Amino acid sequence: MRYLIETYGCQLNKAESDALEILLRGRGIEKTEDPRQADAVILNTCSVRKTAENRIWGRLGFYSAEKRKHGTMIIVTGCMAERLKEDLKKEAPYVDAVIGTNDKASIPDFILSGKTGASDHYSFQSSYYQEGAYSSYVPIMNGCNNFCSYCIVPYVRGREVSRPVEDVIREIRYLDDRCVREITLLGQNVNSYASEYEGKPVDFPTLLEIIVPYMHNIEFVRFESPHPKDFSDHLIDVIASERRVSKHIHLPMQSGSTRILSLMNRKNTRESFIALIDKMRERIPGLTFSTDVMVGFPSETEEEYEETLSMMEKMGCTEAFMYYFNPREGTRAAGMDGQIADDVKIRRLERLIDEQLMRQKRIKEGMLPFKSRVIVTGLSRDDEGMYLGRSEHNDYFAFTSASELSEGMMADVYADELSGNTFRGHRVE
Ligand code: SF4
Repeated sequence: MRYLIETYGCQLNKAESDALEILLRGRGIEKTEDPRQADAVILNTCSVRKTAENRIWGRLGFYSAEKRKHGTMIIVTGCMAERLKEDLKKEAPYVDAVIGTNDKASIPDFILSGKTGASDHYSFQSSYYQEGAYSSYVPIMNGCNNFCSYCIVPYVRGREVSRPVEDVIREIRYLDDRCVREITLLGQNVNSYASEYEGKPVDFPTLLEIIVPYMHNIEFVRFESPHPKDFSDHLIDVIASERRVSKHIHLPMQSGSTRILSLMNRKNTRESFIALIDKMRERIPGLTFSTDVMVGFPSETEEEYEETLSMMEKMGCTEAFMYYFNPREGTRAAGMDGQIADDVKIRRLERLIDEQLMRQKRIKEGMLPFKSRVIVTGLSRDDEGMYLGRSEHNDYFAFTSASELSEGMMADVYADELSGNTFRGHRVE
């Protein structure tokens, strides 16, 4: 029995696919990349953008033809399976099973026996680790209570659920024993984590304090995505004081205008966001930022768009994920007055991207020359004899080394040049 899996969307979906692969392997179902060899195809889908859903409809068309030729079983899971369950059954009757996010763990059973589970709650898997990898996701939360007006996540993933502390510790120890170098704690609203341990409440910074002592081989701990409204002083102190907690923080801005942030239901203002990034910079030496930012939200004026541009300059990110507003059916923002024309949204996005690319080049050139500790991520395909690496700040490096290195080793690199987005240099022996 062989399966093929395609994964779309966020890191949590990717982590859930990794966990599903462990379950499938445990049941003797082997992986293939070849659709003609696959007895079952699993599409782990995303609903965040319409384009992602359109792409999946296209893949379903492709696999329906495979099914006619080879009898392939087709399983759709993930957020699109939650959002469009009935539509999928009607529009794509050749799909064998539409399995919601809570029931992903029942997929091996369905492949082997045709039975699906139907759970009313989300369960975390015991591990999300891909054997041999130097990096791993560690989901600690699922769902979201925030209902940002443009976002489909609370509707498809439900309310926030936190993974028990004991389970997180167990997985951290498992990963550390396997010499994993980098972990990313995941949750849609990761810093509203709430659980308990040894009879006491545990919030997100406390969880970091509990798990860091278990790390001997793990060098970098990242987390995504925090919400600015839940970014406490305690969290800032823990980032500043724990060496292993990455000093590169992904902090979604979304907009630089207080009025637009309010329409987005983000629960922070331009002023509170600026105060937060100033405080973080002051207390965390060497801090760098990345962000998510969106332009063209309904009724956004040119002045409000300019406020986003100025806040991007103020934040000074070394990387940014930039989008224009894309209405998602079923969210409040999709029905708001003042929808912006596509050509305006595209123009606003293009300038945002141009400015950000120039800014990150300027910031990175300003860092040269410097020394950085990196995880070796492999050998360069383009530059013979050069190794590739990635630092705590998520900067990419290409470098020479007098001695042989392998993936997952740590190396100190002296960088004296920037090429595109990659620092170039040599290993300091
Ligand atoms: S915080 Fe907002 S954007 Fe993030 S998942 Fe929740 S609703 Fe969506």
